[in-house]
Amino acid sequence: MIVEDLPEQVRQHVREARRKGLRVGCVPTMGALHQGHSSLIERAREECDFVVTTIFVNPTQFLPGEDYTRYPRTLESDLRCCADTGADLVFTPQTDHMYPDNAQTTVQPGKLAEVLEGVIRPGHFAGVTTIVAKLFAVTEPDAAYFGQKDFQQQLIIRQMVRDLKLPVEIVTCPIVRELDGLAMSSRNRYLSAGERSAAVELSRALAEASRLAAESTLDSLQISERMWSLLQSSGQLEVQYAVLADPETLEHPVQRTSGGRAVALIAARLGTTRLIDNELLRFS
Ligand code: AMP
Repeated sequence: MIVEDLPEQVRQHVREARRKGLRVGCVPTMGALHQGHSSLIERAREECDFVVTTIFVNPTQFLPGEDYTRYPRTLESDLRCCADTGADLVFTPQTDHMYPDNAQTTVQPGKLAEVLEGVIRPGHFAGVTTIVAKLFAVTEPDAAYFGQKDFQQQLIIRQMVRDLKLPVEIVTCPIVRELDGLAMSSRNRYLSAGERSAAVELSRALAEASRLAAESTLDSLQISERMWSLLQSSGQLEVQYAVLADPETLEHPVQRTSGGRAVALIAARLGTTRLIDNELLRFS
């Protein structure tokens, strides 16, 4: 496995792979890798011949006061994880490789970035689209792999790829969960034991939303209210949103139509940690 921090070197390796006719897959991450990340690398391994994982804690997607400085940086174990899962190349750029002092250009997402996470974390998605565009420019992938865990993010990246006509296929992979249902996240390690027990309420509320969509006649607002009250009854979670939205446009509330699809999305704070989770569901 090659480990490279220079963009030009990465581009050379990728171009060499392409000259051999290999299909290139890219898995962008911020490190502190867990089984959610490994599942993306494994999927890329199945579908591509040359797999690039990027590890970069991107400063521009953190708001002032967020956890940029304390975000876990665990490069050694991340590299072991990448090697074990079959990455061919790991790109670990320094911040000034991606953001030279004289950089002026950013990628601004549109309407999809103005709701939900976009309201609570204004500017976050512009940081994401800007870095992902740069990572695509360096790694020139045929396909790139993202987690459904960050549902709004994968929609925004799909939109960016369409709008900028980038020749990359976006693949969204299922959420990997702990045994009790908590979605894996690099931020879960911030949770105290008590918070960790309360964190399971997110996936429980989503499961209840899914059940109500399939088995009741409640409309999407009533189901959202049910999610809110379940989350709040834990006494520890500060709910930021709990909605049923259109899985393509994120418009909400969605109309209940027989066989119609929706995505239930939750964000909540637990002490100083912010958790998000979601589940696709279908109305009966
Ligand atoms: P991050 O390192 O948190 O920026 O995440 C890198 C990629 O891994 C993103 O596409 C995430 O959506 C994805 N990811 C994070 N957690 C999970 C999970 N539990 N299951 C599947 N994918 C995940």
